[in-house]
Amino acid sequence: MQLTDFVRDIHDFPKPGIVFKDITPLLLNAKATEIAVNALFVQIAGAQVDVVVGMESRGFFFGTLLAQKLGCGFIPVRKPNKLPAETTSETYALEYGEDTLEIHTDAIKKGDKVLIHDDVLATGGTAEAVCKLVEKLGGEVVQCNFLMELAFLSGRDKLKNHSVASVLTY
Ligand code: AMP
Repeated sequence: MQLTDFVRDIHDFPKPGIVFKDITPLLLNAKATEIAVNALFVQIAGAQVDVVVGMESRGFFFGTLLAQKLGCGFIPVRKPNKLPAETTSETYALEYGEDTLEIHTDAIKKGDKVLIHDDVLATGGTAEAVCKLVEKLGGEVVQCNFLMELAFLSGRDKLKNHSVASVLTY
């Protein structure tokens, strides 16, 4: 079974010129989902992980499953004003404009070893902002762990100081 068979290219979404990597066919297939979680797990297995942090919203799917498999908790990073308790935020530049991400301030304890997960590494801006959030709260980023990497966008350049792993490379 090839995981790539379960990732669908949607052209010109969400705007013209973007080829969106759609993982909903993967989520629809239990066996493919199991294979994907195992592959994400193998990327980090052996390292100590205290908690998994996943980005809204597609980072929630496999981030939670991966945390279960690692036997640790999961922390959601969300867009502004979605999290109910006190938050810490990080604003980062987009191609046009900027975006902000938030995390519950009490979610990470100083010294926690944190695995960051998202479905896609594109330009790396999102993952870089999440690394900063984790470090602001005293956490230590063990790895930035992705299902897919769009290598032609050089997202790894923004994550040079961190370990980066992805299951599929395009
Ligand atoms: P970036 O900050 O550029 O690395 O973008 C990463 C975020 O945008 C991730 O949360 C991805 O889910 C999403 N993303 C960026 N490009 C794509 C794409 N081509 N297909 C699916 N998701 C994408």
